Amino acid sequence: MSEQKKRDNDTVVLDVEKLRIHYGTPAGDVIAVSDISFQLYQGETLGLVGESGCGKSTTAYGILQLIQHPGYIVHGEIKVDDEDVLGMTEEELRKFRWTKLALIPQGAMNSLNPTMRIKDQIIDVIEAHEGKQKDKEALKERIFELFQTVGLPNRIYNMYPHELSGGMKQRVCIAMGIALNPSVVIADEATSALDVVVQRIVAQTLIKVKDMLGVSLIVIGHDMGLLAQIVDRIAVMYAGKMVEIAPVENVFADPLHPYTQLLIDSIPSIKERKPLKIVEGITHDPRNPPSGCIFRLRCQHAWDHCASVEPQPIQVADKHTVACHLYDEQFEERRANAFAATTNS
Ligand code: SF4
Repeated sequence: MSEQKKRDNDTVVLDVEKLRIHYGTPAGDVIAVSDISFQLYQGETLGLVGESGCGKSTTAYGILQLIQHPGYIVHGEIKVDDEDVLGMTEEELRKFRWTKLALIPQGAMNSLNPTMRIKDQIIDVIEAHEGKQKDKEALKERIFELFQTVGLPNRIYNMYPHELSGGMKQRVCIAMGIALNPSVVIADEATSALDVVVQRIVAQTLIKVKDMLGVSLIVIGHDMGLLAQIVDRIAVMYAGKMVEIAPVENVFADPLHPYTQLLIDSIPSIKERKPLKIVEGITHDPRNPPSGCIFRLRCQHAWDHCASVEPQPIQVADKHTVACHLYDEQFEERRANAFAATTNS
């Protein structure tokens, strides 16, 4: 690995510390994101996974300061390129979004304005941040370059959204996301409404964009198989907590957290016929989380210590952390027994 690459890979572009987000309800606060911390490195693609309602999208909206009432950020620290996002004024945030931090929201392709041509929607984004562009030819060239980056033909310049396929619309949204050359792009379920072939094309587009522009990417999704092909690390969330973050090859070859293990086990295989595995039980009431470990009510390895002490992230390898007592040094024997029992069952 070259020195430059190594240095880039170790540069933190997004640093989230102890972020906590609640949604207020008459029956009490729902804890959507619970004191999560993670870093995104320069040029890295991080996959954020977990079941519906685990806080993935809320995390993304929190990072962008787009949490709507009755949601609110209780505490935390968010830094992008060392700039403190939570301390920004509305005007500073407005400039910051798209130029430093861009979001491709869930169902983005349906958020395109049906009454505006594609070119006008992209020009809107550029001019909202850079002011009226006098050189129309240069602006057109710039949009053609964006089209080329995301694999779209120039002929869509004058088209309306309804004239494009779902995959093309999604790539228009990616083009808008990178139009102002942000450091970080968050793609929230960018491929979920597409068929499998188009999903793959859109996923490849995201990676191509990342490689060409050197942006750092967070890809939120459910499809572990698809994420495995495009991300460098995977962050696994459960009920608002970050339970494991690891390089993608570690997650698939040797998942450590019991929840990550169950997630990997539940991926259907086309190579072998096996009963479909599910994560038994249901998530607790998010207004009233269990004491100790957040996963203990569904964990087959839980013991009394898990009910009284909350596990903290333990670094087990480079850029690999897991929050589970089985990886505390003093419980090494218990870990060996737990996983021997699982293997034999
Ligand atoms: Fe299971 Fe205990 Fe680990 Fe939580 S801390 S995942 S309950 S073994």
